Amino acid sequence: MSNETDVIVIGAGFAGLYAVHRAASAGLSVTALEAAPDVGGTWYWNRYPGARCDVESVDYSYSFDDALQGSWTWSERFAAQPEILAYLGHVADRFELRRHYRFGVDVVAAAFTQADGRWQVRTATGETFTAQFLLCATGCLSALNRPNIPGVDDFAGEVYFTAAWPREDPELRGKRVGLIGTGSSGIQVAPILAGQAEQLVVFQRSANYTIPMPNRPWSPTEQVQIQEEYPERRRASAYASAGTPHGTYHKNAVDADPQERLDALWKRWREGGVLFAKTFPDQSSNLAANDIAREFAEERIRDIVTDPVVAADLIPDDHPIGTKRICTDAGYYATFNRDNVRLVNLRREPIEAITADAVRTTEASYPCDVLVFATGFDAMTGALNRIDPTGPRGERLHDIWADGPVTFLGLMVPGLPNLFTISGPGAPSVLANMVLHAEVQVDWVMDLVLTARRRGVREIEPRRDAAQSWTAAVATAAAKTLFPKAASSWYLGANIEGKKRVFMPYTGGFGTYRRHCDDVAREDYAGLVLTTR
Ligand code: NAP
Repeated sequence: MSNETDVIVIGAGFAGLYAVHRAASAGLSVTALEAAPDVGGTWYWNRYPGARCDVESVDYSYSFDDALQGSWTWSERFAAQPEILAYLGHVADRFELRRHYRFGVDVVAAAFTQADGRWQVRTATGETFTAQFLLCATGCLSALNRPNIPGVDDFAGEVYFTAAWPREDPELRGKRVGLIGTGSSGIQVAPILAGQAEQLVVFQRSANYTIPMPNRPWSPTEQVQIQEEYPERRRASAYASAGTPHGTYHKNAVDADPQERLDALWKRWREGGVLFAKTFPDQSSNLAANDIAREFAEERIRDIVTDPVVAADLIPDDHPIGTKRICTDAGYYATFNRDNVRLVNLRREPIEAITADAVRTTEASYPCDVLVFATGFDAMTGALNRIDPTGPRGERLHDIWADGPVTFLGLMVPGLPNLFTISGPGAPSVLANMVLHAEVQVDWVMDLVLTARRRGVREIEPRRDAAQSWTAAVATAAAKTLFPKAASSWYLGANIEGKKRVFMPYTGGFGTYRRHCDDVAREDYAGLVLTTR
């Protein structure tokens, strides 16, 4: 494998694999670099028990190739991590993608040299690779957040992170487990830890809303039907607001009568999963509408949790429902009815320190043999900032984004020519079906790269005003919603100490975003400067 190619792709998740496939199919030479030992991206690392996608399996899969689509049968409505990882392995085999990859390679730096119009990336071992185009498919939830709790390194027992779970599940029988973090990962892993461990203590700093995931196997008849209906399903998703065929109730919550609202909410609750956050069209933008859905969800928590004090602690008090990523679970609330499970509300009794064998709060010391951290990620910008690409005029990403991410369509950064960020800030990404989103972005980038090569273009860079205008559009879209009201949300960077609070994803909808991308391409890449030198 040469160290000089046309394109470098960093990452082997859904976006990276598709980028490698598109580039190689177009006849470009590709170097693909991945820190993990194999393909999978987020689904390689997040192999904690209970990890499952909150988007239905039939939607959370590639749409670009009918034969690929026909070659895979999802066994369940919501696929578990092992099945998604197996699917990505199947895709890599089918398109022979692994031959482009160097696995176990940590990219630590990237710099663009104007003299030769190429990016040079450097790995942790000092190896370098160069290419004209650099595609960062580094994931928006991949830079692990290690909490800076006093004494964390003094703990003498076993320590696990949900986002870097060992390949062999640890033996937890007879052990006292402490779980820190109650976002999607903590909420998914808790019921399983409770079933395995002698005792589970859940340390909750902020409560989150979670909707039951009524998962079930697809029947053989449904599996046939899914294949038959795929073309229509994909058509319905292509420009939909979240990249799935599902919409909202046909009326705003505030315009529906009470019984009608209740019926709509029960329907969504029973269907389960993240769609509850979009039951009504006005739910994410009108607080009165949001309150209707929020109060319904809170009533369900009180229904399930037998101890009213615990139920009250599990009800969030700091954000409208859905403005922090809504979670999906398999028995989370009922877990707190078990005798071997205890909830510690860190708002009431903050952690003072972790000691060799316990988590000590202001009120008590909780002995633990095992600590599980489900403490999230430096989301959206973390993985890119850790590489901190430097442009031809010495501008570094870290500085360009010091006041929040500035992007053109969430895909390019002024000052960093020929660099593309996939699933990064400034795009709907985490608010949409990430797989179709990755396809849209990669297709747009590859069409641009091929156009540039046909025209002998050496550098492509967004105009600063164009990037500022897109970044302003991202902010304006967010301001029309309730999302910025969630003070501790990772969407805002609020979970990371010292990170600038800026709402990062584009809330205007997947379909609207895609139309913007289409328009820019149709207008011969208006907003970009293509330099032939
Ligand atoms: P997360 O949502 O950021 O949750 C991290 C949790 O750790 C929060 O409860 C946070 O509390 C807590 N925490 C962080 N530092 C702490 C500290 N020093 N002391 C005490 N608690 C601390 O991370 P996540 O659960 O890994 O989920 C991230 C995203 O990944 C999700 O929102 C979702 O988009 C995706 N995901 C999806 C699925 C799925 O498809 N089903 C599953 C897992 C993850 P605060 O809220 O107070 O900061």
